[in-house]
Amino acid sequence: MELRTILYGYSKERQGFTVVPEEAAVVRKIFAEYISGVTLKRIADELTSNQVVYYQDKTSWTKNTVCRILENPHYAGDLEYPAIVPKSEYDMAAAIKNSKGGSRERDTEEIAWLKHKMRCGECGSRYTRRKHYSGTHERWVCINGCKSELFVDDAVLYQKLHSILSRVIGNPSVLRYDEPCETHYEPTLVVQRNEREIDRMIEQQNPAFVPIKKMIYESAAQKFDCCRIDYSQSVTEALIAYLEQLFGMDSLDFALLKKIVESIEVKKDGSIAIRFLNQKNIDEKE
Ligand SMILES: [Zn+2]
Repeated sequence: MELRTILYGYSKERQGFTVVPEEAAVVRKIFAEYISGVTLKRIADELTSNQVVYYQDKTSWTKNTVCRILENPHYAGDLEYPAIVPKSEYDMAAAIKNSKGGSRERDTEEIAWLKHKMRCGECGSRYTRRKHYSGTHERWVCINGCKSELFVDDAVLYQKLHSILSRVIGNPSVLRYDEPCETHYEPTLVVQRNEREIDRMIEQQNPAFVPIKKMIYESAAQKFDCCRIDYSQSVTEALIAYLEQLFGMDSLDFALLKKIVESIEVKKDGSIAIRFLNQKNIDEKE
C-alpha cells in the first residue's frame, strides 16, 4: 500500500496537474467549514464518518491531513496547479490558523520529533527541515551540508518510513539478529594487572591468604563492573511480540513510530534506514 504522492484534489495528466472535481469539492468544503469556525478535528471526523475517500481505499482523515490541506498554497492556484479555492479564502484560513496559537511556521509535534531522530548517513550530524524560499516546498537536509542525491521532502520521507514500517509489521522477525548477542566482558587494564598480581601472590611459597582473599574480592567487584550486558535480545523479542499483534496500516502511524524507533538515517543516495529500539537497522531494500 502506498501513501498518496499527488496532492489531494488533483491528478497528473500529460499537460500537467488537473482538478479532480469530487476531490476539489471536498477541499472547498474543508476551507469553508474551517473559515466558519469548525475545528480541524470535527472536520476530520466528519469526513471519516462520511467515508470520503482520501486515497485508494483510505477513508480515515486526521486533524493533520486536514491541516496540511489548509496550509497548502497550491490550492489557491499557481503556475503548476489550477486554483481550487480563491486566494482570499486561502488567506483567511491561514489568518485564522495563525491567530490560533503558534505561527504557521511552528513545527508540528511530528516534525519536531523527526528533527530529533534523523541523522546524516555521511557525517552523523543531525538532519533538519528547511523551507524553500517560496514557502511551498520543504526539504530535509544534513545540518552539515552533505549533498543528497534525492530531494527529500515530507511526502518522500513519510512514504519511505511508511514502507519500511509496513514491511517490519508484515514480518517482525526481520528485527532479529543473525547471531544472538551475548554478554560482553571487557576487562580494564587495572583489572588485568590485579589478576596478574593475584596469580603472582598465589604462586608464592607461603601465600598470605588474608591479603589474597581481600584482593580476589576487590577484583571480582571490578570485573563485574566490566560486564556490559547487552539487552538487545530481550528488547528484540519484546518488539517482535508487540509488532505481531498489529495489522498493516494505511498511513504512517507516528504514535507507533515514536514507540519503536531509535533513530532514522538518511544516506547519500537519499535512501533511508530505520534503527529500531533493539539497534537493528532496517533499510529500504526491495
Ligand atoms: Zn552530513
